[in-house]
Amino acid sequence: MVSPSLVWFRDDLRLADNPALRAAIDRGEPIVAVFVLDEESPGFRPLGGAARWWLHHSLESLGGRLRDRGGFLVLRRGPAERVVSELADEIDAGAVFWNRRYGGPERSVDAGLKTALRADGIDVTSFAASLLHEPWTVTTGSGTHYSVFTPFWRACVALPAPRTPLAEPRDVAGVDHPPASDALDDWGLLPTSPDWAAGLRETWEPGEPAARRRLTEFLENDLPSYDRARDEPAAGATSLLSPRLRWGELSPFTVWHEAVGVEGAGGFLSELRWREFAWHTLYHSPDLATTNLRPEFDAFPWPPLDPAQLDAWQHGETGVPLVDAGMRELWHTGYMHNRVRMVVASFLVKNLLIDWRLGEEWFWDTLVDADEANNPFNWQWVAGSGADAAPYFRVFNPELQAKKFDPQGLYISQWASDAPTEPIVDLGETRKAALAAYDVVKRAPRGPRGG
Ligand SMILES: Cc1cc2nc3c(=O)[nH]c(=O)nc-3n(C[C@H](O)[C@H](O)[C@H](O)COP(=O)(O)OP(=O)(O)OC[C@H]3O[C@@H](n4cnc5c(N)ncnc54)[C@H](O)[C@@H]3O)c2cc1C
Repeated sequence: MVSPSLVWFRDDLRLADNPALRAAIDRGEPIVAVFVLDEESPGFRPLGGAARWWLHHSLESLGGRLRDRGGFLVLRRGPAERVVSELADEIDAGAVFWNRRYGGPERSVDAGLKTALRADGIDVTSFAASLLHEPWTVTTGSGTHYSVFTPFWRACVALPAPRTPLAEPRDVAGVDHPPASDALDDWGLLPTSPDWAAGLRETWEPGEPAARRRLTEFLENDLPSYDRARDEPAAGATSLLSPRLRWGELSPFTVWHEAVGVEGAGGFLSELRWREFAWHTLYHSPDLATTNLRPEFDAFPWPPLDPAQLDAWQHGETGVPLVDAGMRELWHTGYMHNRVRMVVASFLVKNLLIDWRLGEEWFWDTLVDADEANNPFNWQWVAGSGADAAPYFRVFNPELQAKKFDPQGLYISQWASDAPTEPIVDLGETRKAALAAYDVVKRAPRGPRGG
């Protein structure tokens, strides 16, 4: 009797180095692959607009690739715990496989489902696939987790090297009668009125094949200049792999193993470790997007919000050229260079005195790589409220940053040639106001939350 294997795709929209898919193939029974659009499970954060656009195209690509190999991708929508158990029941699954997730609400869904499926006599196996090290394996001598990057990194290096990536399967044989699937177009992931995605279409080709091509191209052409030029937004020296890693079109194991042998890869590999650190931080602090990691920041005296200033920041109309260039790059492409992300975030929090959470939400909606861990982690890093954060008193001066990292003004003229030139705030005065506000934080009780 046939007892199909159910493979549940989540943040791992790839065939290569996909241990859940590999295990299902090795089991030898026909496969049903499913992706569930879950906007209903408790605590799930609805995807932002740019992320929805990316997801649509990446699912389209994955579905096509499964079909080319004799399989198919079933699309279902609803709370995953119910949807996946109903589908397992419907196909009479003998086993269910997935790759692990590390956000709090996701873990709770996965744990509940595992228990329920096992109670029905179905084998359930989950795998490590989107982080090089499982969060519970990187611990201090006293068994707690790291809140500072450098010792975290050292502890990772002392662990066994990340495993070798798995090859891409040639066949993914499906069941004879695929279960019903939603039509991708009916999910409404693409913007229609208005269709603001032209810049995204110009910039990106979502899906595993394009991700694979970009990795090869980066390793061959750009990695040698990465350490020297990674901070220059006009240099095109970074990998642009963040949305690929966000959606799992590439596995970090693949990126790691292909980069590690290349001369001069140290700085790049260290950024991959920052990604790990952000995810480990989220694992231990599931409220990362809403709660200051340092409780003393709860005392920060945010002034009443000036919506016009927030609007000017969001739309690149602040009159500060590097900030406006970054915000316009983001709006057009769904991406912003890392150095510029730091500058625009510092400007919002420290020159406009607007709560980092509002900046985080805007990035969440507009970034194609918007990531449950990296986004709030980095916002808290810039704000000074986070793990191993930049000290609050380090206020980036966007003019000096532009002189240093965009000395010929190439980036600014690409994105903000027609932006206003009169700054909406005085950089020196607002810096002083920020430091005065920080004095209140300094007097508040210190230390890590709950610790
Ligand atoms: C305020 C702010 C918000 C951010 N939000 C996100 C986000 O939502 N999603 C996201 O992936 N990155 C985020 N970052 C981190 C970083 O800016 C991007 O990962 C990077 O710009 C992506 O470009 P790249 O792939 O060319 O990076 P590369 O320099 O080529 O780095 C390689 C990979 O390392 C990881 N990485 C690099 N820098 C960081 C970092 N500081 N923290 C964690 N991982 C990093 C990314 O996965 C990246 O793809 C944010 C940074 C700031 C300052």
